[in-house]
Amino acid sequence: MNRVYLDFNATTPVDPQVLGAMLPYFSADFANASSIHTPGQRARAAVETAREQVAALIGAKPQEIIFTSGGTESDNHAIFGVLNSFVAQPILAVHSVSQQPPPGHLITTTIEHEAVLNACQAAEKQGVSVTYLPVDCEGRVDPNAVFRAIRPETALITVMHANNELGTVHPLEEIGRIAKQHNLYFHTDAVQSAGKIPIDVNALNIDLLSLSGHKLYGPKGVGALYVRSGTRLQQLLYGGHHQRGFRPGTENVAGIVGLGKAAELARNSLANDAQRVSALRDKLERGLLERVPQVRMNGAQAPRTPNTTNIMFAGIEGEALVIALDLKGLSCSVGAACSSGAIEPSHVLTAIGLSPEEAKSSLRFSLGRHTTESEINFALEIIPAAVAQLRALSPTYQKAASHV
Ligand code: PLP
Repeated sequence: MNRVYLDFNATTPVDPQVLGAMLPYFSADFANASSIHTPGQRARAAVETAREQVAALIGAKPQEIIFTSGGTESDNHAIFGVLNSFVAQPILAVHSVSQQPPPGHLITTTIEHEAVLNACQAAEKQGVSVTYLPVDCEGRVDPNAVFRAIRPETALITVMHANNELGTVHPLEEIGRIAKQHNLYFHTDAVQSAGKIPIDVNALNIDLLSLSGHKLYGPKGVGALYVRSGTRLQQLLYGGHHQRGFRPGTENVAGIVGLGKAAELARNSLANDAQRVSALRDKLERGLLERVPQVRMNGAQAPRTPNTTNIMFAGIEGEALVIALDLKGLSCSVGAACSSGAIEPSHVLTAIGLSPEEAKSSLRFSLGRHTTESEINFALEIIPAAVAQLRALSPTYQKAASHV
């Protein structure tokens, strides 16, 4: 069967050029990048080249890049690293007065990835208070709400760049400006935007930024955390002196080389990819609007990443549609891959105002760098038929339709 994959927000394949760059570091150039002998120095040079490549993708300096195991670790490191250093300082300052460490405060949004939301919830259990700001019906937070949420004890603002389910892009420039005016650290989870839309950490006043290899045609299990020079950040892990002690552990040289190469390729092709892929995404949306009654695009009025669309098919059980499409050769998803199997409707879709039923009727299609027009034509052929078939089997849909 011819398979079409439209689930690139879940993960991307490793680009052949990325794989080519990585392969020597599994065998011939296998040395530890911390070894002082010649093979070790070769591995070190490769890691440092990758640091430059990742830095160039986001307008950072190479020494501001820490390699991690992926987006989840980067998010956790940013949140707990800032919180721990923030709480540690004032404890010393107020120790003699109250003996009570100040609890600290985080500002985030309701539509963050679990890597941020669950880290925030864990912080709450440690006494930190967290403001979860609502978003509008397109999935964007209001920068004024960020401003109003600031308290004297606020340690960090963490707002994602692009949402993984909707593709909508938060107004980071305004939020960054507010953070800077209030001398607050600003972290963004850019796992879904890095390599898809331009990022300049200086223009956006970002202090910490997370990205992940496997979302930009690099390998899984490697990511990066950008940390602006001078940011007070406590390490998460304790061990050797790798990466200046920020992130101990023998470097995953092959993975890091792959992430670097992927960042370089993304930087070179970002503008072209964005134009081509968004035209295909728009074609898919237009085609479905023409061919399928009672569909709605979620979050489509906001600035979005070029590859993502989230579509509500009224009266459909989203997972049933994903399975029906899978049987016909199309891979897509009901939302975040890490939430599949969850009974609850998507927290992102309910946050933008969808009812639980509407949220459960919504599918995410995320295109990739190599998605072709004929793949979109294939999707436009099979989706309307699968939707009609499922609706014909649904007594509730039939009953509701007969009343329209
Ligand atoms: N943040 C966002 C927005 C994501 O989409 C993901 C992965 O789906 C992550 C964080 C986690 O990244 P990783 O899979 O590299 O841990």
